[in-house]
Amino acid sequence: MASETLHHKIVVVGGGTAGISVAARLRRAGETDVAVVEPSDTHYYQPLWTLVGGGRAPIRASARPEASVMPKGVAWIKAHAEGFDPENNSLTLATGAAVEYDYLVVCPGIQLDWNKIPGANEAVNGPFASSNYSYDLAPKTWRLIRPLRRGTAVFTMPAGPIKCAGAPQKIAYLACDYWRQQGVLGDLRVVLVLPTPGMFGVKVFSDVLETVAARYGIEVHKSSEVVEVDGESRRAVIVNHADESREEVTYDLMHFVPPQSAPDWVKASPLADKASPFGYVEIDKNTMRHVRYPNVFSLGDCGSSPNSKTGAAVRKQAPVVASNLRAVMRGEQPAPKYDGYASCPLTTSRHHLLLAEFDYSMEPRPTIPLINTKKEVYDRNMFKRYALPAMYWNMMLKGTA
Ligand code: FAD
Repeated sequence: MASETLHHKIVVVGGGTAGISVAARLRRAGETDVAVVEPSDTHYYQPLWTLVGGGRAPIRASARPEASVMPKGVAWIKAHAEGFDPENNSLTLATGAAVEYDYLVVCPGIQLDWNKIPGANEAVNGPFASSNYSYDLAPKTWRLIRPLRRGTAVFTMPAGPIKCAGAPQKIAYLACDYWRQQGVLGDLRVVLVLPTPGMFGVKVFSDVLETVAARYGIEVHKSSEVVEVDGESRRAVIVNHADESREEVTYDLMHFVPPQSAPDWVKASPLADKASPFGYVEIDKNTMRHVRYPNVFSLGDCGSSPNSKTGAAVRKQAPVVASNLRAVMRGEQPAPKYDGYASCPLTTSRHHLLLAEFDYSMEPRPTIPLINTKKEVYDRNMFKRYALPAMYWNMMLKGTA
């Protein structure tokens, strides 16, 4: 296919949560020439990986064949995109082929920068550390949590935007609840390293999480980061950015979350926000349209809009992108309809949930009747384990929710 040039009216790069949701909506709206560039055979529902790491769900429940979620009538270009040429309405594939478009939607997700923290990659592939941020590693998190009876457990979160900013602490609470039930929590030192001065960006939820961490006796290191790991000696170096102090902790278990940024090939492209070290696709935060290329849109983890990077945010962005793209096709202006909505179902125990919903105002934005979203609720985690995945596979990916 090296010298081949394809052409489609609308090309969507990435067939993950965002790409499939948008492609399905465009097909439902009657668009007949939509292509999705997606290299993977498998589609992942990543929010389940937190429950997998906490021993609450099997990993296989998070994966389905990509072919089963690809909307009917969409052309699937099974390849890696590797460069954009927006001046010529074209992109290149790793195969060497080019794909020309009239309209482009960019959503290839986020890159996990394992190598930014020296030693982290080796550590998570060694015997004492893991990460729910990878399909291959999430089951190992539970294999490490289950037998631990004494010693030190470290849970990390990096600085900068990451997907699901609540996930680094959700797994700490699931683990602590399990150790409490086993009667060993008192024999463990549990350290949670957060880059932020508070537990969460929205004060009401942050206040609840303070009480959750205190309940489990978790030692929270705020404004701090793990900057170096030695998997062999099980040492993690924690720097506190508020007072520049350094501390070395020897761990018996570490759950590590890597720093994240736009994929390198997106960062290097003309679509990237060059003023930001993270290099996301530079879009208007309300219309989701590119600020320099009017026939280009982006959403999901790869977009520069300053919302919390979650599938819940994608659910609200996808209809905005689909309708604004079609407005632009008709020669109209895109409407500023996305308000930054995101939600994060914070598992505070194996049976409790704090459903944090908020928008750009960073104030609570509850949407679900009958649930007090400012308090932990008891639901045996049925909502996160069964209701949300069912909504995802059966409605969101089909463009109906
Ligand atoms: P993705 O879904 O990651 O899709 C990106 C797609 O692009 C993939 O299919 C990939 O194969 C493809 N791709 C990659 N490179 C290329 C390329 N070169 N060319 C073409 N295609 C490419 N969200 C919530 O709402 N609630 C939660 O509770 C929650 N918990 C989470 C817990 C964990 C541990 C993790 C990791 C994530 C969690 N999320 C949660 C976040 C959510 O999964 C993401 O925000 C969401 O998947 C973003 O969608 P996306 O389409 O932008 O990226």
